Amino acid sequence: MMWGEKRYNSLNYFLRKKFNEKVYKVSLDGGFTCPNRDGTLSNKGCIFCSENGSGEFAGSRKKSITDQIEEQLELISKKFPHGDVIAYFQNFTNTYGDLEYLKKIYEEALSHPRVIGLAIATRPDCIDDNILDLLEELNKKTFLWIELGLQTSDEQTAIDINRGWKLEVFDKIVKKLNNKDIKVVAHIILGLPNEDRETMLSSIKYIVEKKVWGIKFHLLHIIKNTNLEKLYIDTNFHTLTKDEYIDTVTEGIQILDKNMVIHRLTGDGSRETLIEPRWSLDKRNVLNSIEKYLKEKNIYQGDKNEETT
Ligand code: SF4
Repeated sequence: MMWGEKRYNSLNYFLRKKFNEKVYKVSLDGGFTCPNRDGTLSNKGCIFCSENGSGEFAGSRKKSITDQIEEQLELISKKFPHGDVIAYFQNFTNTYGDLEYLKKIYEEALSHPRVIGLAIATRPDCIDDNILDLLEELNKKTFLWIELGLQTSDEQTAIDINRGWKLEVFDKIVKKLNNKDIKVVAHIILGLPNEDRETMLSSIKYIVEKKVWGIKFHLLHIIKNTNLEKLYIDTNFHTLTKDEYIDTVTEGIQILDKNMVIHRLTGDGSRETLIEPRWSLDKRNVLNSIEKYLKEKNIYQGDKNEETT
């Protein structure tokens, strides 16, 4: 099975098939904070979280949602002058706010003539029943997915990285979202301190078992002015080499269900703020190396998934 020219089901392929055209995402900052940063749960944040709330390339929160969309469209106007986009609420916790405010900004995004869908990144402990109802409503009228930063299924690592919620919270909310046919994308970070290959692969298996729609693979980035940077300076913990990353991510691809959509195979680092691993700054090279590895080893998504083989 091939997905276009790829050996895995990429988001790009999925969106092209669904909308019969190339669809981009525009990253927006909805002006939120996060209970893990504002003192409600903690004021430290997840250990890797940057001052932008893990959304380095989004629009500016000082601007309205419409202005941010226009600004982002302008940035991609040369390669993408006319097509449709998904409005992606990326920074911080995008359901952590008053219900009326949430409705207002999601609706504002949807009212833009080039927006054909919504992607909302949040924490599983920030979706109460009222928000769930709102998401259900949105899901009926637009193309919607919800992104949840699982990062790991290992409870000890979750404590070490100060994620601030237990696995059962994720389980519960994914069940509720699945029951309402709302698509879920789970994020995983490869290379967290003290995690070996087996632990990372267990997290991927866990995500597959939860029957989510999509997955985002991230390589752990040590970013300036984060608690992770301090830990790195203090302990000099091992950061993944390119070969280790490719080995783990390609093994992960084989564990996935064939229908899952891969939203990302590595992260976007900023040259100015990324401390390690610097090899990841050449994103094109990393992606090409993954493709090459898959081809050389004749690997396809789902090859090691018992349900879909
Ligand atoms: S949940 Fe997201 S925004 Fe909040 S601290 Fe963690 S990474 Fe940062």
